[in-house]
Amino acid sequence: MPYRRQAEALVRQLEIAPFLDALEAEAPGSVDPDIWAAIVEQAARFAEGVIDPVDAALDRQGASLRDGRVVTADGHRAAWRRFADDGWLTLALPEAAGGQGLPLALLTACEELFNHASPAFTMLATPNRTAAAMLENVADPTTRAAWVPQLLSGEWTATICISEPDAGSDVGRIRTRASRGEGGIWRVNGEKCWISYGDHDLAARIGHCMLARSSDAIGVRGLSLFLVPNARDDGAPNGVHVRRIEEKLGLHGSPTCVMGFDGAEATLIGEEGRGLQTLFHMMLLMRLSCAPQGVGVAEAALATAIGYARDRRQGGDPAAPPVAITAHADVQRQLLRMAGRVEIARGIALAAAVVMDLGERCTDDEARAGWLALAQFLLPIAKDHSARLAFDVASEALQVLGGAGYTKEWPVERRLRDARVFAVFEGTTGIQAIDLLHRRLWRERGEGIKRFIALARADVPNGEDGAPLHAVLNRLEEVAQVLSGWHERTRDAESGATAFLDLCGLAVGGWIATRLITHAGDDAVGRRIRAAARFFLAELEPRAEVEARLATLGSARLDAIGDYLD
Ligand SMILES: Cc1cc2nc3c(=O)[nH]c(=O)nc-3n(C[C@H](O)[C@H](O)[C@H](O)COP(=O)(O)OP(=O)(O)OC[C@H]3O[C@@H](n4cnc5c(N)ncnc54)[C@H](O)[C@@H]3O)c2cc1C
Repeated sequence: MPYRRQAEALVRQLEIAPFLDALEAEAPGSVDPDIWAAIVEQAARFAEGVIDPVDAALDRQGASLRDGRVVTADGHRAAWRRFADDGWLTLALPEAAGGQGLPLALLTACEELFNHASPAFTMLATPNRTAAAMLENVADPTTRAAWVPQLLSGEWTATICISEPDAGSDVGRIRTRASRGEGGIWRVNGEKCWISYGDHDLAARIGHCMLARSSDAIGVRGLSLFLVPNARDDGAPNGVHVRRIEEKLGLHGSPTCVMGFDGAEATLIGEEGRGLQTLFHMMLLMRLSCAPQGVGVAEAALATAIGYARDRRQGGDPAAPPVAITAHADVQRQLLRMAGRVEIARGIALAAAVVMDLGERCTDDEARAGWLALAQFLLPIAKDHSARLAFDVASEALQVLGGAGYTKEWPVERRLRDARVFAVFEGTTGIQAIDLLHRRLWRERGEGIKRFIALARADVPNGEDGAPLHAVLNRLEEVAQVLSGWHERTRDAESGATAFLDLCGLAVGGWIATRLITHAGDDAVGRRIRAAARFFLAELEPRAEVEARLATLGSARLDAIGDYLD
């Protein structure tokens, strides 16, 4: 039942997602709601029947290190094999690369269902699929032929291998060293940490998509991208070792590894010294996948809260039997607030995916640049909004369950633990917010923001339903103008960067909510979506007002930090 409700909402939102006309014009035949609906329903059945049943074991057993190798939980391997054999890794890859050539929006919808079932499980698919896409674009023909089919079959897997003890958010401080030795062979030496699925027993070979320092140039200019396999072509070990796996709050089924590289043979991918730029495509796709990850986990928590609230009886006339807690205004508020945020985050994720598709498929250079600018604006919002949403909704769902929510008898505490890291990996909230300010607003002169505001104004008339959105778009425009002028006042602007990110999120959310009210339809699914969107819209202006004021408050309130830290 929860998966059916989620699939119905996804199918409806896919049908009415923004810019589908433009996508169909760019790639005729790519928009096919009937096929999309059939695939989403299949994904829902797969999530419920195959992934969901192993999530509890993944959480309870986690992964362990035995004799220098990571051993995964019972059932993990069989579920992964079925996932790969059923073709879920190939959905949005071009047909020329062995993929199914379907749009990213459809993949995003399916990923939301898989993450509902288990984010720890789904986390292995993302680097696999995105590494295959990246290698297909930039690797030499031999590497491409060796790796892409194996990654898409799930026989081999990939990681994204960036972080180090002294290089987290600050990628330019990476120290792992790559040098070219005898026979022109590259070898890497160093330590990487936090590597998701850095080692495991689910695949025969693991390729690390690694940023390493190949010259003495300072910062990111000295970094190149390498593919570093854990085993050589003949199966011999390649100097890649798991040093530790982290004991974490959540996501226990996804092993987070400290990896040592001791003279490991590596293949240079793309141009030397342009590692970050080469990895960019994979990183963008991974960031997009963070959006359905957050929405999927939030949806799972919300579904539990709805089911529980319908059954749980408390309060009402003491002389009569107690009423279901759904009768209380405060519980109604909590349920609708969760539902509104989930529905809107879903819409933002799908919109970002359509815009990414347009950025990739559009043939006109100027139009493509416009779509890419819009994608760059929407992506951090889609990523961070969903990340924080997942934790907030899990927490609110726990509240609806009362004491029961705090126990392991209900899966809500698991969602809460799993979700907390979403706002940390793939760029913390703070880094996303600062990126929005420095790159999008200052360096690119707010191109994506302006484009979004113009498109939203043109898309939604300033009538009764559109009024809150137009008010918030005006606010966003004013705040963006103020912050644009604070280029020299970096500390002032950065102290409000997260509030600015939130204001942008509310404006994009307001646009999606207004569209949903207009287009979602009047059947049971449409009424459910519209109820959630109406609640979101009702609170939009006061919430935007708070963020707008915080975004431009300046940094004076931070001046006493020295006294506090002393
Ligand atoms: C479960 C898990 C899985 C992960 N998987 C992978 C993986 O597969 N591959 C991989 O390469 N990495 C992975 N990571 C690492 C992850 O990407 C990093 O944790 C993240 O980038 C943050 O780096 P850090 O932990 O070093 O925090 P830090 O960079 O030390 O940041 C600490 C705090 O300071 C803030 N901060 C830092 N710099 C600035 C700044 N310039 N301005 C303002 N604020 C700043 C941050 O926002 C944050 O709040 C994973 C992490 C976890 C926990």
